[in-house]
Amino acid sequence: METTIGFIGLGIMGRPMARNLIQAGHRLIVLDRNPEPVAELAALGAEPAATPASVAEHAEVVITMLPDSPDVEAVVFDAQGVLMGLRPGTLYIDMSTVSPMLAERITAAGAAQGAAVLDAPVSGGQVGAEKATLSIMVGGEESAFQRALPLLGALGKNIVHCGGPGAGQIVKACNQILVALTIQGVAEALTLGMKAGVDPGKIVQVLGAGLARCGILETRGERMIAADFAPGFRSRLHYKDLRIALAAGQAYEAPLPATGIVHEMFKQMVISGRGELDHTGLLDLLQEWARPTQSA
Ligand code: NAD
Repeated sequence: METTIGFIGLGIMGRPMARNLIQAGHRLIVLDRNPEPVAELAALGAEPAATPASVAEHAEVVITMLPDSPDVEAVVFDAQGVLMGLRPGTLYIDMSTVSPMLAERITAAGAAQGAAVLDAPVSGGQVGAEKATLSIMVGGEESAFQRALPLLGALGKNIVHCGGPGAGQIVKACNQILVALTIQGVAEALTLGMKAGVDPGKIVQVLGAGLARCGILETRGERMIAADFAPGFRSRLHYKDLRIALAAGQAYEAPLPATGIVHEMFKQMVISGRGELDHTGLLDLLQEWARPTQSA
């Protein structure tokens, strides 16, 4: 069934997601600061809008795919924000990776206007967005989840209702913790092996079949050894995601000591000018630290 969907944030992820929704037969109203993706989607039949409020006024479902919590906060709560246009019965789905506490706040504000809100961050990256194979972790009311399911099915494959408001963002934070700490572990192991003169290819080969096997070793091990750190997922975004995870750890009083250390590693990535490298570029930083000290 055709649904009128307002889509705000047409970047690396949002642009192909919006395309997939048009391909699935939906009518789209689109908004981005950048005129280029707006023009591309307009050429495919989408209608450009001037403000988040006007997107929400004319849509049955609103989706946002924005960089960070302050961006979503502004697009939702500003004078011309989504909340100004939300009508009773509208469904608002934020698919950006943001703070779980912000997701809870938006859900409460939406409910006060009779609108349903879901937090539905994704994993799978640009390729997953293009191929509509994203994993989507959803927080919010069961009835809103059931309503969203057919639309989310045009964007991803593994769509899981994780719990109440904010639960999707919590699960995304769990994902980002696991991936970051695994990269750190793999990078440290490879650095030790290389520093000791062992062929890192042998390390990837033998560890990949034992208890230490993991997605990072399996899919990124060879590229890490080849020092191919083209993104992929940029280090500055993973830095942002670990900040979100640590803030959630503080809010829910969950101890996250190792996350704190790897957050510092990603801070160092950004400070040292490696923010645009793939997150596996943590190996590059460790390699720099591992260089033999110059004799005086
Ligand atoms: P991006 O920076 O490529 O896109 C964001 C878009 O939002 C840009 O086009 C920007 O112009 C637009 N925008 C920002 N503020 C705006 C505003 N106030 N009004 C209108 N438009 C505005 O980011 P992305 O890579 O598409 O990521 C989006 C979200 O998805 C982030 O939260 C990210 O962490 C998450 N995510 C990204 C990936 C990935 O591989 N890139 C994977 C999973 C999740």
